[in-house]
Amino acid sequence: MQNQKGYPAWQFALEATAITVFFSYIGLFVYSAVTNYSARAEQSSLLSVQLVLYALFAYITADFVSGLVHFLADNFGNPETPFFGKVFIYAFREHHVDPKAITHHAFVETNGANCLVSLPGLIYFHHASASVLDYTFRFYFLVFYLGIFLTNQIHKWSHLDNPPRLIAALQRWHLILPPAHHAIHHAAPYDKYYCITCGWLNAPLQQLHFFQALKKVLRWDFR
Ligand SMILES: [Zn+2]
Ligand SMILES: [Zn+2]
Repeated sequence: MQNQKGYPAWQFALEATAITVFFSYIGLFVYSAVTNYSARAEQSSLLSVQLVLYALFAYITADFVSGLVHFLADNFGNPETPFFGKVFIYAFREHHVDPKAITHHAFVETNGANCLVSLPGLIYFHHASASVLDYTFRFYFLVFYLGIFLTNQIHKWSHLDNPPRLIAALQRWHLILPPAHHAIHHAAPYDKYYCITCGWLNAPLQQLHFFQALKKVLRWDFR
């Protein structure tokens, strides 16, 4: 995805700061997780299983949100819509015109927008109070926001002709969005397979005609 009118220095500075703050919070969370985990694990042998399930569910939720935002940006509003117009709508629409442009974006330009929208939620949930339930709940949001943060990077990797070997392996194992899978979205009529984190929800949502139905509802078009 490319930004309108190039990539100004102020935007780079803002997004680089957001990414630094984002990873500082990830670091803080991991620190509190390490210091709290052993004590909590003694109280509940199921905690590890619980955390794996939360992580899985969080990753799938991030995939769904990536699809929903992508669907809305492809089909509604216009590039002049305040904030979302420039950050998402223009970017997604241009991406259909020139799908390879995203591969020329450096790390900050690729990930800045998703980081900016993730940051308020991440900070809020990091400071949520900590009973065991809250702890796992906060863990869920940590993985969710990491998934959202990684989405555009994963999307970029799916457009590379020669991704790094580890990335190619993750794509082959379908742990992240595989290029051939994402290519289905880039084929006319461009109305399916919107999810771009891991894409696990694309086939089931297509079987349900979820996005086609949602488009009709939002356009109030029941022909
Ligand atoms: Zn699209
Ligand atoms: Zn794409």
